[in-house]
Amino acid sequence: MSELEFSQALEKTNVEFDYSGKITPSCSPEAFAPNRIGSEGTLRFKYFVDYDAVLHMKGYLSVTCSFVCDRCNAQFQRNLFLEFEENAYPKMSEESEITYNMPRINLDKIASDYIALHFPTKVLCREDCKGLCPKCGANLNEGNCNCFKN
Ligand SMILES: [Zn+2]
Ligand SMILES: [Zn+2]
Repeated sequence: MSELEFSQALEKTNVEFDYSGKITPSCSPEAFAPNRIGSEGTLRFKYFVDYDAVLHMKGYLSVTCSFVCDRCNAQFQRNLFLEFEENAYPKMSEESEITYNMPRINLDKIASDYIALHFPTKVLCREDCKGLCPKCGANLNEGNCNCFKN
């Protein structure tokens, strides 16, 4: 399990620290079928604790996923790359979702929730994917079919 232990940041308020490490998303890989969330990713961010003991994290999250193109149905692997920004609040806080008891938080859990919330709904194999012929179903990225020739 990937954890952030931030007792140092809790002692030195408003001083920025770096975190970089692997994460194992715990969300179901099938949650976004036919797209699949990879089993390993990386998380990189800067963090600090403010005067109210709120932990601020800001950086990047990436996880290799397998996608099915929304236009041509081709399957491909790509890094899902997300800007990552979350806060964690001390336990007495009620309004927020992410809280902590000890100066440590479970990054796998936080990253999983973040991925689930920001997972793209439509993904193309490439920006200019030509898609499938509506008539014969040929993949037009591989060349023109005969349907629309005069
Ligand atoms: Zn495509
Ligand atoms: Zn065709």
